[in-house]
Amino acid sequence: MLNAKTINITFLAILLAMIGYDWSSQMSPWWYAVLLIVYLNIQAYGASVLSAQFFLPVKYQGDTNSNKIAITFDDGPIPVMTEKVLDILSEYKAPAAFFCIGNRVNDYPALTRRIYESGHLIGNHSYWHGAMFDLQSAYKIAKELKDTDTAIQNVIHKKPNFFRPPFGVTNPMVAAAVKKGGYKTIGWSIRSFDTVTKNGSVLLERVTRSLKGGDIILFHDYSTTTLEILPAFLEEVAKLGLKIVRVDELLKEKAYV
Ligand SMILES: [Zn+2]
Repeated sequence: MLNAKTINITFLAILLAMIGYDWSSQMSPWWYAVLLIVYLNIQAYGASVLSAQFFLPVKYQGDTNSNKIAITFDDGPIPVMTEKVLDILSEYKAPAAFFCIGNRVNDYPALTRRIYESGHLIGNHSYWHGAMFDLQSAYKIAKELKDTDTAIQNVIHKKPNFFRPPFGVTNPMVAAAVKKGGYKTIGWSIRSFDTVTKNGSVLLERVTRSLKGGDIILFHDYSTTTLEILPAFLEEVAKLGLKIVRVDELLKEKAYV
């Protein structure tokens, strides 16, 4: 499998071979630059594509032979927006997972409780979701995850088993923090890009055109476009003969530990 360890060993071997060759018959230094550029590009791909599982194991899809799919909402809880999402889900009797940000859970415990008591799953999505989240030390990332667990535990008295990395970005520090906390990292197979898509029909088309059993879809609570298309999306899922289950059921993993 293409993962960080294999790539590091392979590139180290190539580098040593190049040094050996260079020693005996002089090579253009540009070859070292080429090697470095290729290496950095592979690292960047691994950091940004969660399903590549480059730095850590990631669950991003359920059984593709089933008719079950799961929907997930990141970045809440957000007053009004999350409430509207909950109203629609309740109307359609659709369960979902909410990957919550710790400081918002602390700010809105009643809304967090409502998510949980409505039968939805609550997962860990970091405490601050800062732009520099991934650039922190493993120690600081682990602390953010723990603080989020505490915030969630204070409300629902259960510790999340699922973590979703902010921006879907991973690296050795995130991997170390996840390992320390013992979380299952949850990705997605369909990314809606609902935070940047303002056109409802474009969004609906994107999330339904190749929808199939096993899929996990990434939405955001604060997207007005998601809110606008959510009823039509849920109707389309039913028309396609697919059934929405919670992501823990889809993946056959425990939601809490
Ligand atoms: Zn997020």
